[in-house]
Amino acid sequence: MINRLYIHVPFCASKCGYCAFYSIPRPESEIIGAYLSKLERDLEKASNSCGKIDSIFIGGGTPTYLSAGNLERLFSSVSSHFEISADAEISIECNPETLTAGKAELIAEFANRVSLGIQSFNPKFRKILGRQGSPESIGKAIRLLLNNGIGNIGCDLIYAIPGQSLSDWQCELEKAASLPLKHISSYSLTIEEGTLLAEKMSNIEYRIPNDEIKHNTDTRHLTPESSPIQPATDHGQLTTDNSVEMWNLAGAILKKHGFSRYEISNYSRRGFECRHNLEIWYGDKYLGFGPAASSFDGIKRWTNAGDLGKWLSGAQPEIDSIPAEKRAREIFVMGLRTSQGWNKIFFHRKTGFKSDIFSPELAELREHSLIRETDEKIFCTKKGLLLWNEVAERLI
Ligand code: SF4
Repeated sequence: MINRLYIHVPFCASKCGYCAFYSIPRPESEIIGAYLSKLERDLEKASNSCGKIDSIFIGGGTPTYLSAGNLERLFSSVSSHFEISADAEISIECNPETLTAGKAELIAEFANRVSLGIQSFNPKFRKILGRQGSPESIGKAIRLLLNNGIGNIGCDLIYAIPGQSLSDWQCELEKAASLPLKHISSYSLTIEEGTLLAEKMSNIEYRIPNDEIKHNTDTRHLTPESSPIQPATDHGQLTTDNSVEMWNLAGAILKKHGFSRYEISNYSRRGFECRHNLEIWYGDKYLGFGPAASSFDGIKRWTNAGDLGKWLSGAQPEIDSIPAEKRAREIFVMGLRTSQGWNKIFFHRKTGFKSDIFSPELAELREHSLIRETDEKIFCTKKGLLLWNEVAERLI
């Protein structure tokens, strides 16, 4: 039985400059109505294949772009088709500027965890990212949530923004840590082809000499034209040279304020890890609803059509069916994103495979200090978390 649901709400107030997710800015109300009707039908159809629901994650897009009436409609269609455990974790993503008193009240009746899309407190970097809303709307949203009894609030931050220095990033972290938050996700900006930001960047030469990068970790003196952005990698993305230092800084500053890194990009106060995501990193089953949402039944994955029109007209999901051992490898590397890594018995129970199948690869990764292994556990070292892509490549 499946006990976890993900619901993708593909609407936003505008398109952020860096956004490569599937989202529709300012949709007509008829489109939202059609989306909700199809979602209701899909939820109803799936209700028999699920047991008691232990976690729900409503993401996007911007779920709180929906009006209060539409949010209520979404919540009640989930509640009416599924039995939800009394202690289920129910998360919803929220962009602060879209939250109203009425929506906060509805969210408090249905959900118990809110993830705020902040990304940056600094107006200069918000502008580069193309984020709507003001830093003031963040404080207002937090007050609305707290006043309605939602104490489990988290936020997303982005680092390695063009022109952002270590000291700028430190300010962002200190600001986030000073707020009554329980969870912070921090992601390095990737500038993906086809986004508005990539287009903007392609007109500017962002490069500084390597020597200068090595000897100047504080890049406040750099102008945007000389910020430490490197040319596109072969993955079609751009990275900054100080993103590693920024990742380290996030770990150190957030630790000082009582947050632990429990996954490569996720930090929480004790007991406030996102249970839904943790279970999914450990290979648990879940059903995804809405365009571009993925599902996993323990053996195969499938992804709904990533286009609202196609999804509405009933396009079949794309199925990803691979041999069991390959799937076990995939689950293994996803679990290695967490700081705790795998308990060997748990991995065996979860996948039917013993971790011995990775022995040759693990020996090599241990030699490079990327992995540590004890009698009971296998987990990434700090270096391994940082170079998780390489760990994954070696194991899959
Ligand atoms: S709010 Fe999120 S999903 Fe919407 S455009 Fe911005 S980054 Fe994309």
